[in-house]
Amino acid sequence: MKSLKARLEELFEQLFAHYGAQNWWPAETPFEVMLGAVLTQNTAWANVEKAILNLKKLSELNPQALLAMPRELLAEAIRPSGYFNLKAERVQNLCALLADNRELHKLADLELRGQLLGVTGIGPETADDILLYAFQRPVFVIDAYTRRLLGRIGWIDADIAYEDLRQTIEQALAGDTEYYNEFHALIVIHAKRVCCKQPRCSDCHLSTLCSYPGN
Ligand code: SF4
Repeated sequence: MKSLKARLEELFEQLFAHYGAQNWWPAETPFEVMLGAVLTQNTAWANVEKAILNLKKLSELNPQALLAMPRELLAEAIRPSGYFNLKAERVQNLCALLADNRELHKLADLELRGQLLGVTGIGPETADDILLYAFQRPVFVIDAYTRRLLGRIGWIDADIAYEDLRQTIEQALAGDTEYYNEFHALIVIHAKRVCCKQPRCSDCHLSTLCSYPGN
């Protein structure tokens, strides 16, 4: 049996060979990455794009501007992303952290993660999206696509806790920011296109790796 590191590296190589570089995250600035990470909770990315476009028509995209914006106006602008009242509150909570702590980028990884997790409405996945794609920290993001793909392949238990899975993968790979950036993006594209809710196993180039029944 190959080590988890060897299996994950093989998965990365096969995904990269098939899809190529993904150049994530789709955003113009680190702050836009953070905004997208909050807005993408429980919705499709296309809805986030509409919400961010609405915001750009109203305001500059920076923490101070969004913090000063009336909550109702912000909520209305981000309506396409769903749960817009809740997300407006979360966006402003995050903006308050950023506006009050202009030297966040100087914090060590764990300390920065702790600050992000201290914001009401920012959970581990959102915090890790922000750490990896906005602050360029070496974090392996776990999301529903990651769980679905690795679970179907047969490498993880469906109910493994977020932190346990993240630490297991990070300890196995010991990767850098660029590697984790690309790996997560490749998992997402494969889970969206092929390993969907109803997996399209007959079209999947990972079938030799995968133990999903009937693939
Ligand atoms: S073979 Fe099927 S279950 Fe396995 S990764 Fe591919 S699409 Fe998903």
